[in-house]
Amino acid sequence: MAHKNIVILGSTGSIGVNTLKVIERFSDKFKVVGITANNNVRLLEKQIRDFSPQYAAVGTKNISVLKRNINTKKIKILDAASDLEWLVGLKSVDIVVIGMSGSAALCPFLSALRAGKRVATANKEALVIAGHLIRHTAKKHKAEIIPVDSEQSAIFQCLEGQCRQDLKKVYLTASGGALLNVPKSRFNQLSVQQILKHPRWKMGKKITVDSATLMNKGFEVIEAKWLFDLEMKDIQVLVHPEAIIHSMVEFRDGSIIAQLGMTDMRLPIQYAMTYPERWKAPLKSLNFAKLKQLNFANPDFKKFPALALAIHVGQKGGTLPSVLNAANEEVVESFINGKVSFSKIYTLVERIVLRHKIIDKPNLKDILAADQWAREEVQPYL
Ligand code: MG
Repeated sequence: MAHKNIVILGSTGSIGVNTLKVIERFSDKFKVVGITANNNVRLLEKQIRDFSPQYAAVGTKNISVLKRNINTKKIKILDAASDLEWLVGLKSVDIVVIGMSGSAALCPFLSALRAGKRVATANKEALVIAGHLIRHTAKKHKAEIIPVDSEQSAIFQCLEGQCRQDLKKVYLTASGGALLNVPKSRFNQLSVQQILKHPRWKMGKKITVDSATLMNKGFEVIEAKWLFDLEMKDIQVLVHPEAIIHSMVEFRDGSIIAQLGMTDMRLPIQYAMTYPERWKAPLKSLNFAKLKQLNFANPDFKKFPALALAIHVGQKGGTLPSVLNAANEEVVESFINGKVSFSKIYTLVERIVLRHKIIDKPNLKDILAADQWAREEVQPYL
């Protein structure tokens, strides 16, 4: 089999790093054509030396540093702010892995789909704000979207070989984030560092904060709606602290299929790249006798109002998800930088969501305009 050419958007983030680990193990089957990052020039340089891609993109202000530090005869340096759409559309590219977070992934995502690529995506913001456009574009250009997020990968795997019309509902599991067992009255006493410690998954900062507010789970409900063509009401969030069951689907005869596994992102990443095949992975088997029990609970919407807000926004649709996401991105960044308190994340995001006049059936321009509007609207509070 000829090797597959891979582009990784966000190669220095946790998804990117794990994708490169998978590629390293199958270096005869995958070849890295392009990698991109925004700020982490040092790690990007190391990755360039280790994987010799033809292209590397970096944030505009870091281009000159990168050019100075590496031999530019062997590689073309691109601007991550403007060249990603071109890079993912290159004829030689087979698979685009989207590891970058935020709505900035939307335009390159659409570009990869227009070029008919397989898109392995861990980015959820693009699907949250423009799920209908992504679905439509993928269908039109016969492009594949294979989810990398553990829950969406689980649902994808549970639906394999099943008749779509037999599906009754989806259980989207949630480990509960860093604050599951912390009383709400203590939320604002916790440091940014404490919130950034996720009990089950090692991930980037933005998504770890979103996991603590459960906004991440709300985004995943909206994402699942678009990925699997579901109604919001057919997706039930279920808190499952062990994160062993990565999600489940129930069929109309009452049968339920679940996907279980170690909490290791290399598993869904590898599956998205090898699908429909399954290749060997260096992971231990689950030890059920040692696990002894798995726990489940309904989410506490009062303690985590961001989840209820995101579900409400997903039901409303139009440009509202774009506003929710953009406001959240801005406020979470401010929180990480120590500028706003934890509880402000919800109150500020809700405030901007309530102010927005929804545009139904938005096009790309409407979505990006709503994104921009929300970022400007929330700025005075940050
Ligand atoms: Mg997830």
